[in-house]
Amino acid sequence: MSQLEIKDLHVSIGEKAIVKGFSLTLNSGEVHAIMGPNGTGKSTLSKAIAGHPDYTVTGGDVLLDGRSILAMQPDERARAGLFLAFQYPSEIPGVTIANFLRAAVQARMAEGEELDATGYYKRLYSKMDLLKIDRKFTSRAVNDGFSGGEKKRCEILQMAMLEPKFALMDETDSGLDIDALRIVAEGVNAMRGGALGILMITHYQRLLDYIVPDHVHVMWDGRIVKSGDKSLALELEAKGYDWVKKELAKA
Ligand code: ADP
Ligand code: MG
Repeated sequence: MSQLEIKDLHVSIGEKAIVKGFSLTLNSGEVHAIMGPNGTGKSTLSKAIAGHPDYTVTGGDVLLDGRSILAMQPDERARAGLFLAFQYPSEIPGVTIANFLRAAVQARMAEGEELDATGYYKRLYSKMDLLKIDRKFTSRAVNDGFSGGEKKRCEILQMAMLEPKFALMDETDSGLDIDALRIVAEGVNAMRGGALGILMITHYQRLLDYIVPDHVHVMWDGRIVKSGDKSLALELEAKGYDWVKKELAKA
């Protein structure tokens, strides 16, 4: 059982405060959705947790199993068990998915420990079967000429192979067509229920038709202003974010 604890987090870009006291505790096996209008700081939150150098944490803490990750480099955070879904959108012509994943798995291993090729392929193929990915897929170059859906498939396969404790998926929605949404959802649903905890950031309720979250949080002006179960996402879809704004004004 693992826990990712975001405590009163404040994040600035340059002089501008964007995340303003965000708190959330995510446990193994849970799927939390963060929803909110554009510009409310969702991507800033996920980039700060990933350790992006342009985002300055000015207050609060992020603890993985009780240990602060804020002083860790992005790759250390990854080795500690965090997976950021937007982390590898680059195209890597000439490098096959199979070799890329192998290097990624190898990079996670302790110094001097050797990856066993037979075991690696066995694991890769079992993950591909779980995610219903065609064997031919891994001989293609990483993201090279991929459709949005294929990029997502590649990302989900990385996630399955790396077996993180927690995945942060910022579905910067614009690029996601229905095909890509479905692929993300099928992958997440195939992996959920076990040890993996997921923080699903989305602007649209649509994704949550496919991935039913355990908890839904509304983010507004850098913090969570409302939390609930999956019915909150439906209510948001029906009433829009203005409804939350009006409720906040009343309070
Ligand atoms: P969301 O993901 O919820 O749409 P973002 O975290 O992307 O919100 O953006 C929150 C605010 O931070 C916006 O006002 C945006 O203009 C600003 N912002 C985001 N990235 C940068 C950046 N690199 N430089 C300056 N301002 C930024
Ligand atoms: Mg965003």
